[in-house]
This record gives sequence, structure tokens and C-alpha cells, in this order.
Amino acid sequence: MAEKRWIAETLFDDLGFRMTFQVDKVLYEMQTEHQHLVLFEQPFFGKMLMLDGATQISKKDEFIYQEMMSHLPLFAHGKARDVLIIGGGDCGIAEEVLKHRTVKRLTQVEIDAKVVEFAKEHFPEFTGPVFADKRFESIIDDGAKYVARTDRRFDVIIVDSTDPIGPGKILFGEKFYAGCKRCLNDGGVLTTQNGVPFFQKNELTSTMKKFRRLFADATCYVAAIPVYVGGHMAMGFATDDKRLRRHSTKTIAQRYRKAGGFVTKYWTPAVQVAAFAQPRFIADLVAKAEQPRR
Ligand code: SAM
Repeated sequence: MAEKRWIAETLFDDLGFRMTFQVDKVLYEMQTEHQHLVLFEQPFFGKMLMLDGATQISKKDEFIYQEMMSHLPLFAHGKARDVLIIGGGDCGIAEEVLKHRTVKRLTQVEIDAKVVEFAKEHFPEFTGPVFADKRFESIIDDGAKYVARTDRRFDVIIVDSTDPIGPGKILFGEKFYAGCKRCLNDGGVLTTQNGVPFFQKNELTSTMKKFRRLFADATCYVAAIPVYVGGHMAMGFATDDKRLRRHSTKTIAQRYRKAGGFVTKYWTPAVQVAAFAQPRFIADLVAKAEQPRR
């Protein structure tokens, strides 16, 4: 019986630990122009995607991340028509955004054509409905370049990026966030994948510092995604409209009903409001962004 292959997540090598996944079958493995990509079948998590040794999604729990990165900013905004996703190659978030009837146009800017290509083959449950939807536009480009030069404007920008390694690094820089701010309509919302603060605390504080220099309201909300080891994942939330993250459960529930009350498996109006309640150690990391430079 051939030795089972194990694939390690190497994102936390600098902390001296790895999480390894037993592999039933490798479906796709290649070095693209931008990163190492491996898609494999895992006995518990199902299909899993790793880029440059960092877990991106797993079929088993992708709904948590996809729903929290899409429904929360869209229901916080309340009347988003134009939405931009930076990254998001697997199209899981795009599928959730398109459930919102207010959304008239969704643009996705993904740097790696290979990610979109294999997602069409291996995640047809996401890419099928998305590419069939006339509101959707897929652009292959560096998200940082795109926001620096586009003349398009958006109500919500969702940065569904990799971690700040490889091509994703630039998506954690102030220049990129300033580009996003430039592309946001008044009252717009920017949300970002901001890692697992228990292991990546500097990443969160650094993003909050940059957000604070650009937006009137800068914070994060949290969700626990089992395959992203380390407890709560932080999602950056920035806007100039301080009311958006303070809507009551009642208001969010009204908006959800108006949007058609589509099925969700993690997000609810109450979860939306509760997600901004940061555990103390995360609140301290966000507060650290306030401290003036010494
Ligand atoms: N859900 C995942 C997570 O939380 O880690 C991220 C999903 S998605 C696969 C991340 C995408 O960001 C990848 O497809 C990657 O190619 C894309 N990406 C990385 N750097 C980028 C850049 N500079 N511009 C646009 N897309 C980028």
C-alpha cells in the first residue's frame, strides 16, 4: 500500500509549527507565474486549495469565510450596487455577493489566471453560477495596479487575498489601501482578509494603523474558521460612515428579508452584530493602532 502523502501548511514556519493534511488525491499541482498552487482531496475537509503553502479554502468550511466576507459588508452598507473583489480566484465570495439583488455589477480582479482556470474545473459549484451571471466581470490583473488606475467607483470592496507573502504582499500596503479608498463611493466599505491574530498579530495592527490614516472608522470583525488554524480570523472593516457597523440586529434583519432571505449556514443578522465584539486580546491589537508613533 503506497505511503499516504501529507501536505504541510508552512505559513507559520517562523513560529515553529506546521499543520499537515493527509492527502487522498492531488487534483492539480503547479508552479504558476505567481505562486505554487496545489489542490487536493482531504479525507475530512474535502477539496482543499493551498497557495505558497498557505491554506486558502476547504470545501468543508468555506461557507463561514465566504459568507462573513460578503454578507456582512453588503448588509452594513445596505444599498451596494457596484462591488469589487480583489483576489477571490475560487469565486466563492463572488457567488455569495451575487445573491444580493441590490448588486448591479460585480468586478473581480484576480492576479492568477490559473486559479480561475482550475476553479472553473474543480469548483463549478461556485464558478458556474458566477460566470453565468451577466452582472459579473472577471479581470486578470494585480489588484494594486487596478485600484491605482481604474476610473470605476464601488460601494463595497472585498479584499479576498492570500496572506502578505508572494503576490499578496502588496495588498497589505498603505498605497493599496489608499487606492481602494480612491475607488470607493461616499459611504463605501472596505473589508479585508486579515489573518489569524493569535499568530499574525502584527498583520492586524499594521492594517489598522494604515486604515486609521485613511478612514474615519477602522476596525475588524471576527469569525472562527476551523481550517485556518489559530482561532478567530480577523476581517478588516474600514469606512467613513461610522454608522455602518453599528446597525441593530433589527435593521440588518429587515435588510436581509428585503434581499430575499436567502439560505446561509453561518452568517445571520445577530452574528453580523456580534462579529464586531472583539475578544480582549484582539481589541488590544486594534487599539495599538491608535498609539501615536513614539
Ligand atoms: N480565502 C482565502 C484566504 O482567506 O486565504 C483567499 C482566497 S483566494 C484563493 C486568494 C486569491 O488572491 C488567490 O487566488 C491569489 O491568486 C489572489 N491574489 C494574490 N495576490 C494578488 C494581487 N496582488 N492581486 C490580485 N489577486 C491576488
